[in-house]
Amino acid sequence: MTREQELAEALTGVRERIAVACDKAGRDPSEITLVAVTKTRPAADVRLLAGLGVTDIGENRDQEAGPKAAECRDLPLTWHFVGRLQTNKVKSVLRYASVVHSVDRPRLVGALSAEAAGRAEPVRCLVQVSLDPPEADGRGGARVEDVPALAEAIAAAPGLALGGVMAVAPLGEDPGPAFARLAEIAAAVRADHPGASTISAGMSGDLTEAIACGATHVRIGTALLGGRRAIVG
Ligand SMILES: *Cc1c(COP(=O)(O)O)cnc(C)c1O
Repeated sequence: MTREQELAEALTGVRERIAVACDKAGRDPSEITLVAVTKTRPAADVRLLAGLGVTDIGENRDQEAGPKAAECRDLPLTWHFVGRLQTNKVKSVLRYASVVHSVDRPRLVGALSAEAAGRAEPVRCLVQVSLDPPEADGRGGARVEDVPALAEAIAAAPGLALGGVMAVAPLGEDPGPAFARLAEIAAAVRADHPGASTISAGMSGDLTEAIACGATHVRIGTALLGGRRAIVG
């Protein structure tokens, strides 16, 4: 089997899982954007996925994503940055990414806005919410009580548009209740900012639970692309 056939088969499988999850939730699959998370995989895979109809690509490390996106410049793709973002990487990330899923602190809002101000198209920013218990520090994401202020800061920042919220299911907990909490947080944000309609939730292992709780964007890596190469450092 060629790599293209392999990816085509995996893509069909993921689209079927999305369709089944939508059916169960009484939703339409057209409400769900599939973001293919291509981290650790080569630009050749991105090109094949684009040929198969994938329009949205997610990456989590700028060092890897920058050259990959440059190689794929000719393709009609939307690039999503989904990883931890350091302020000194903002300039580089905004060369290719038009959506940033991982805005988790005010300082990052300032850095993104400084870079994006004056652009024709605002950079769509999601507030990454931590669904972990408070003591499980270090996995990224704003604390729930800090979400409203962060959302407000993004909405007010030149060059940025508040897209909504993003989260990763907590470790060692059933993803269903966690995504239900995220849905409530998303509704509260939307009450203040009606345009903030994105809920980015669901990965290869928990896309069904995420779609049941209103996810609009699922971020799928391994189920599409297979196992990842280990990254050292
Ligand atoms: C790697 C990654 C994904 C994809 O995870 P899979 O389990 O491989 O589908 C989604 N979101 C983020 C933030 C990631 O870093």
